[in-house]
Amino acid sequence: MDLPLGACDSPVMGQSLDVDYLVIGAGATGMAFTDALVDHADVRVALVDRRHAPGGHWLKAYPFVRLHQSSTFYGVASTLLGGGRVQTRGPEAGLHERADKAGICSYFADVLADRLEASGRVELLAGCEYVGDRTVVSRISGRRHTVPERCRIVDARYLSPDIPAESPPRFTVGDGARVVPVNFLPHVEEAPGCHVVVGSGKTATDACVWLLANGVDPDAICWIRPREPWMLNRAKIQPEPEIFLGMVADLLQAVAGAPSLPDLFVRLEDLGIMLRIDRSVTPTMAKTPTLATWELDELRSIEDVVRLGHVTTACRGRIDLEQGSIAVPGDALVVDCAADGLKRPPLIPIWRPEVITPQPVRAGFPCFGAALAGYVEATRSDDAEKNRLCPPSPYGNTLADWAQMNLLGLRNAAAFGAEPDIREWSAATALNPARIPPGHDGSAALDDAITRIGAHSGPAVARLAELAAVG
Ligand SMILES: Cc1cc2nc3c(=O)[nH]c(=O)nc-3n(C[C@H](O)[C@H](O)[C@H](O)COP(=O)(O)OP(=O)(O)OC[C@H]3O[C@@H](n4cnc5c(N)ncnc54)[C@H](O)[C@@H]3O)c2cc1C
Repeated sequence: MDLPLGACDSPVMGQSLDVDYLVIGAGATGMAFTDALVDHADVRVALVDRRHAPGGHWLKAYPFVRLHQSSTFYGVASTLLGGGRVQTRGPEAGLHERADKAGICSYFADVLADRLEASGRVELLAGCEYVGDRTVVSRISGRRHTVPERCRIVDARYLSPDIPAESPPRFTVGDGARVVPVNFLPHVEEAPGCHVVVGSGKTATDACVWLLANGVDPDAICWIRPREPWMLNRAKIQPEPEIFLGMVADLLQAVAGAPSLPDLFVRLEDLGIMLRIDRSVTPTMAKTPTLATWELDELRSIEDVVRLGHVTTACRGRIDLEQGSIAVPGDALVVDCAADGLKRPPLIPIWRPEVITPQPVRAGFPCFGAALAGYVEATRSDDAEKNRLCPPSPYGNTLADWAQMNLLGLRNAAAFGAEPDIREWSAATALNPARIPPGHDGSAALDDAITRIGAHSGPAVARLAELAAVG
């Protein structure tokens, strides 16, 4: 590792890096923050990651993963992921492209080389651990590096997801049980008599769809769903402003008149915004990844669904759950998809004296939140003002959490959107789902969406506050 950022040696402290920012984590959050920061301020940044390359959790994701949303909304502000391409074939023809694992990892490698390192102001310290106290240690050479007091620390790992490949099962694995993380599925050498998929989220739906696409009989899949999930209809989360803002207008209108949260979600389902796998069961989980309706049809073909809570023990021939046990074939392959993809640590101010902690600002869309924090850091000097413009917003989990996420996201969008330069910047970045791109021709559908958003925002925010409080 060379250190072009003005490193100087000290026998006591190791090498001191002459940088203005130390960004911990070169995943999507660290990359989006750094990209927007150096695009708008003449500063020097050391990015540090214990992994060998940028890209974060995607480097260890399961091979058949794709973004669940359009590529347009992911990555860094300066460089469009996927070129804005629309799918022309397959069951999602007409919807925007979603990058796969290789596409995401090579995108981040290109952004690092072509934009960040090419600027001469950013260096990635790969294979290095941040150990606290302004100190980074190489996991390869053992060399230590420190950063000066004036250097701001950016914690871009606060919302780093747990992924099955790196998380042990959350249940006991008894003798003879075959339990594998989802990553292992493509490497299985002999088909088992039954696949037992454990988990209710996006990873579990991906695993089920992948098994079915590879010819596994739906009756040979047992799906353990501790909770029923609400998911967003991918067709409504598209970059065209008529589609996205039309969805927002429908959502706000439904929220404003909703008698309760469960009722609201059913109304959103009737509007084609929310999807659930089994219409006879009321979901209690609202992390709301996006799903396509063709995937929904596939998932509904699996009839052996177990709703007995979380798995406690997987043994050969039997699985124990919180509310009972089920028998499974002796050669069943248990596919662990239960890691906590979206975390909900406490909301903290993004700017604190000791550390900057990027978090989503509008509801969801973590890359936009990180890039916005980078832009605001570059263009404002007062931390209190930065926090006023960009309070954090959490991810969803329960229905009440979802209401809270949207309540804060709407309030925050009003705060940062009132600043003319931020409005202009966020209209220019494709990471912002709610933008109307400069030069957009306009349409009657867009005018209608904007009018309805204006009419329903106030009542919707008031109603969300009530719904979030009631839970
Ligand atoms: C399967 C899956 C699909 C997803 N799909 C989408 C999607 O379509 N759209 C969307 O917006 N979001 C999606 N998300 C969520 C999104 O990827 C994440 O919320 C977020 O972007 C993760 O990026 P991150 O940089 O915060 O975390 P990570 O990618 O985990 O990066 C954090 C990095 O910090 C490093 N690190 C941690 N501690 C240290 C330390 N002490 N020293 C050095 N390095 C350290 C880690 O090595 C890691 O590389 C998905 C998540 C998953 C799991």
